[in-house]
Amino acid sequence: MKRKTKGAVLFEAGKPWQIVELDLDEPREEEILVRFAATGLCHSEVHAANGNIQTKLPVVGGHEAAGVVEEVGSRVTRVRPGDKVITTFSPSCGVCEYCSTGRQSICVLTAGLATGELPAGGFRFHHRGKDVSSFSMLGSFAERAVISQYSVVKVAPSTDLLTAALFSCGIPTGWGTAAIAGNVEPGQVVVIFGAGGIGMNAVQGAAYSGASEVIVVEPVRMKRELAKKFGATQTFATAQEAVTAITKLTGGVMADKALVTVGEVTSDIALAAQNSVGRSGEVVITALARQTFSISAPSDIMLTQQKVIRGSLYGSTSPQFHIPHLLDLYRTGDLKVDGLITRTYSLDEINTGYQHLLNGEIVRGMVVHKH
Ligand SMILES: [Zn+2]
Ligand SMILES: [Zn+2]
Repeated sequence: MKRKTKGAVLFEAGKPWQIVELDLDEPREEEILVRFAATGLCHSEVHAANGNIQTKLPVVGGHEAAGVVEEVGSRVTRVRPGDKVITTFSPSCGVCEYCSTGRQSICVLTAGLATGELPAGGFRFHHRGKDVSSFSMLGSFAERAVISQYSVVKVAPSTDLLTAALFSCGIPTGWGTAAIAGNVEPGQVVVIFGAGGIGMNAVQGAAYSGASEVIVVEPVRMKRELAKKFGATQTFATAQEAVTAITKLTGGVMADKALVTVGEVTSDIALAAQNSVGRSGEVVITALARQTFSISAPSDIMLTQQKVIRGSLYGSTSPQFHIPHLLDLYRTGDLKVDGLITRTYSLDEINTGYQHLLNGEIVRGMVVHKH
């Protein structure tokens, strides 16, 4: 039987998301049909919509989601129909070189990220007879999708799915940028560039890891104010003000870690991050950029001062371990969620939601699917 689902599709870079009816294949052997409850408006799809990142078009957007498994393929072992799941934009097979050494965020199955092609090959969404790709092999801007069993983490039946969606991308990516990729240690001085859906969680990850100073650079006042509730000790609108303050605060020793969690990383931001850390300081970049972006690292500060620049996907977390772990921290009150979702939208309002994100009006917008 042919299934249909409604979804937001990007047909052409630079154009709005279009809500259309899609045909949906049935799950293959290791695939599952998921009914999504909620999906976040993350900045990554903006890069696809702008053509900043290579994405096969047309594409169903959406990678930060939670939902319920409705059907499973014949060889699915990780979940059953009725299970609540959180999607992971990096699948984790569990057995590749990276998964088996605690680096699930770079599992070999992430090879499909750019094309959205599922690990078993091909696409499960179709529109008027043509293949439609799914963002991050997920496509949660559709009400339902067929995805790999390796792209979800099963959660407890009591889990609230709207809150759970935040644990799909924003929370682990941000928290991991500080705690895992940044390896923030007690007493360290940390500066965080960008306090949006990812950065706000980098702030709480740094605070939780024991940073003595969590300094935030964020142009939007509302986000600076909220960052203080999540553990920021000082906030600044510009990098220049922050670098001046860090110089004074540390007597010129500068920060231990700089975490870049902006919507779009530019050369200026990357350089400011390098300048804000001291000898042996580390810069972690968890952000996307235009295709023309490249990092320039002045040799006098990078080489002779032993600085490090590290790229990070998913905050370098292992989703199968860290997502349940972070849900536990939420249950014990060590991780905050209140205030992260600024507004909810219906699927039909998705372009409005993205406009609000670009205007700096929201930290995280969440589309709640109607079923
Ligand atoms: Zn995301
Ligand atoms: Zn793997």
